[in-house]
Amino acid sequence: MDIGGIQALRAWRAEQTGTVALVPTMGALHSGHQALMARARESADVVVASIFVNPLQFGADEDFVRYPRPFAADLSACEDAGVDFVFAPALGEMYPSAPEVRVCSGRMGEVFEGASRPGHFDGVLTVVAKLFTLVAPHRAVFGLKDIQQFCLVQRMIADLNFDIDLIGLPVVRDADGLALSSRNQYLSPADRQTALAIPRALQAATAAAEEGRRPKAIETAAREVLEAAAGLEVDYLSLVDAATFQPCPPEFHGSALLLVSADVGGTRLIDNVPIALECG
Ligand code: AMP
Repeated sequence: MDIGGIQALRAWRAEQTGTVALVPTMGALHSGHQALMARARESADVVVASIFVNPLQFGADEDFVRYPRPFAADLSACEDAGVDFVFAPALGEMYPSAPEVRVCSGRMGEVFEGASRPGHFDGVLTVVAKLFTLVAPHRAVFGLKDIQQFCLVQRMIADLNFDIDLIGLPVVRDADGLALSSRNQYLSPADRQTALAIPRALQAATAAAEEGRRPKAIETAAREVLEAAAGLEVDYLSLVDAATFQPCPPEFHGSALLLVSADVGGTRLIDNVPIALECG
């Protein structure tokens, strides 16, 4: 496995004759990230994983400085997952100065995560566009845990003509149902118990949909579970049309997503579940 910044990546990339898959990450790797790497391994001849905590996507009051950076453990996780090149650029190499020109995430970038974290998705898409340019991958693998991010990357690939196949992998969860996240390590044991209301709420929504309930009732089923959890504060909970991220109207049928964001003990957690709504 090779490791390096921009110069080493360019030299390595120039030698590749087969297909290349990219897995972008911010490090603090867990088995969700490793599942993406395993999928990348199956989809291309060589795999690049990037590890870069991107300041552009953090708000001024967010956790950029304290975001975990266990670099040695991350390298072993990449090695175990069969990564060929770990692209780990220094901050000053990616941003010698604050970029004037950025990718604009548009209307889909202003709702839900984008409404709570202004500028977040412009920062995400700017770094992803830089990674696409630097790595020049044939495929890129992202997690559906960050579903709004996934949809925006999909849209950027189409709108900016990146010649890249995008692959999305379902949310990887711990045995107790909590979606794996690098930020879970901020949770105290008590917070973690509280946070389990999130996957329970998603299950309640799925069960309500399976009983043939309509969008409002599905949201209510999930909201009741979250509201019963002391110490958990809901940021948003919404059943949206998966194609548009617009809230589902009462008679909606087709592919929907239940989106949830909640604060538990100062840690912001997000999760989602796809929900199929039959004709009512
Ligand atoms: P991050 O390092 O948090 O920026 O995430 C890097 C990639 O891993 C993104 O594509 C995420 O959607 C994905 N990811 C993070 N957590 C999970 C998870 N629990 N299941 C699946 N993919 C995940």
